Amino acid sequence: MARLARSLDELKPSYDAIVIGSGYGGGVAASRLARAGKTVCVLERGREVQTGEFPTRFPDFRGDVHVVADGWRFGSETALFQVRLGSDMHVLVGSGLGGGSLVNAGVALRPEARVFADPAWPKALATDAMLDEGYARAAQWLRPARHAKAAEMTKMRRLAESSRLFGAQPVATPVVINFEDSVNAAGIEQPACTLCGDCCGGCNVGAKNTVALTYLPDAARHGAEMFTGITVRRLTKAADGSWRVEARRSDGGSSAEPIVISAPVVILAAGTLGSTEILLRSRESGLAVSDRLGERFTANGDTIAFGYGLKETVNAVGVGHPSKVPDLIVGASVSGHTELPDESLARTIMIEEGALPSALAPMLPVMFLPNGRLLGALQSLVNGVYKGPFARLQTYFVVGHDSASGRFSLADDRITLAWPNAKDEPIYAQIDDTLGKLVASAGGDYVKNPLAGTLMGHQPATAHPLGGCGMGDDRGSGVVDHKGRVFDAASAGSADVHHGLYVADGAVMARSLGVNPLLTITALAERALMYMATDLNFSFDAAPATPPQAAPAAE
Ligand SMILES: Cc1cc2nc3c(=O)[nH]c(=O)nc-3n(C[C@H](O)[C@H](O)[C@H](O)COP(=O)(O)OP(=O)(O)OC[C@H]3O[C@@H](n4cnc5c(N)ncnc54)[C@H](O)[C@@H]3O)c2cc1C
Ligand code: SF4
Repeated sequence: MARLARSLDELKPSYDAIVIGSGYGGGVAASRLARAGKTVCVLERGREVQTGEFPTRFPDFRGDVHVVADGWRFGSETALFQVRLGSDMHVLVGSGLGGGSLVNAGVALRPEARVFADPAWPKALATDAMLDEGYARAAQWLRPARHAKAAEMTKMRRLAESSRLFGAQPVATPVVINFEDSVNAAGIEQPACTLCGDCCGGCNVGAKNTVALTYLPDAARHGAEMFTGITVRRLTKAADGSWRVEARRSDGGSSAEPIVISAPVVILAAGTLGSTEILLRSRESGLAVSDRLGERFTANGDTIAFGYGLKETVNAVGVGHPSKVPDLIVGASVSGHTELPDESLARTIMIEEGALPSALAPMLPVMFLPNGRLLGALQSLVNGVYKGPFARLQTYFVVGHDSASGRFSLADDRITLAWPNAKDEPIYAQIDDTLGKLVASAGGDYVKNPLAGTLMGHQPATAHPLGGCGMGDDRGSGVVDHKGRVFDAASAGSADVHHGLYVADGAVMARSLGVNPLLTITALAERALMYMATDLNFSFDAAPATPPQAAPAAE
């Protein structure tokens, strides 16, 4: 597919709408606004990484990681993997044209009804048919599917055996992956998944329905202009009510000059950390927003942990594409999951069996064995991780609920997370207990965090950061309303909003979801765009493009 991103030299001074960030929320906003005939630009901090360009070797993978910690940083700001080490919790996100969709497992689940029955959400959401329509559109465009032979994957079989301990059985997981050659909702041909297990390193086959292969090319086909290597810093409101977006290059480009563009409509879709950071900075520059800004951060109970040395083979290390081990079938990164429901929503968890990307294979001995550094070097030569004890390594991705008590603020002009007792949240002890029993029943050793002896320490980590600009009925309870409009704290009415300013990404969640968030982020963004069209008096057709058709290109 031809590249979507344009040269920054082509950036115009103003558009009808500016979309900041290009993950699920940004992709939906760009596609819908462009379909409505608006002039749209998408500003993305990261790079455009296309099918076939995702790292498959460890040195390339390491070169695509950006780590930010208090007082130091490592790597490039445009890296695919962005890690924020915090004293209370670490956060991992994907970055690039397509956001987290580029490197996620693609698990697409709708939360159970009890989640939206929580009064933490705005009342309008709980009773609104548009939420169902949002999920329907998200499913139409991202096309979650269950692999017909998921239960035959060795890693899912192992989960099935150990789940019996709890009287439970895993089910095949819906993932946004094409298991047959097809033409997707944007009219782009996608080959069938090769079951290589590398989803979390980036799909080099092109079988995963990322935002970069669905909503963004659709937006480009309708005229949206996309720019990468540009980081938005803050927003200000001009005297005429339009929005002034201040950005700078993040791609190492020569100009240090701030880049300023304006539009009557701005959609913040820079992800939980990105959108919250931009609003925090904008508040420092005078934008009147709710005092709730930065509050109610949730990690969605998200945990990655391991069962090492199980009695039976697991095959949970990806082989990549082209396959490093041609006769080995791993399955999609997540093939199946076991639900462990509870009368209490807070204790309801879900355990997914996962696969690590092949680029990490040489690191496994280093992570798990005392003499691993030497073995890592040797094993990377002989691909030993696919045969030895690492063939019996089971990876678990667990999701659940926490108290959403994290709080973001700005320190030295950068977003920082405080959640002093995060590791004592009951969800983590419950996960330890459950996985400990599961792994023991499979004859292995439970490894909660193989990197605990490193800079990672014993803090929890999440790849599902949510909240910070949570929805509420008014500015006393939230930062945005149920349509994603940012409350105006300087206005007389407590539910008054800033005209034309929206948040449409994971930041708007009012609580943990207890399932992987991509489908809900997309559904709420679809819903927000439907309301935006009504409120701002425009219309668009959300029907998938008629397949087949050629992939769009940047002009
Ligand atoms: C390894 C991994 C596996 C995962 N697996 C799953 C899964 O199976 N299922 C699931 O539901 N979820 C999964 N997730 C989480 C999921 O990918 C995220 O929740 C989702 O991508 C968030 O979508 P978003 O629209 O909020 O923003 P993102 O997808 O985070 O996109 C935001 C974009 O904005 C850009 N940006 C940030 N700041 C700025 C700025 N200042 N200026 C310009 N651009 C900016 C970022 O670079 C990024 O590209 C996983 C995440 C990871 C990291
Ligand atoms: S298993 Fe491999 S081919 Fe299938 S979606 Fe994941 S990365 Fe792509």
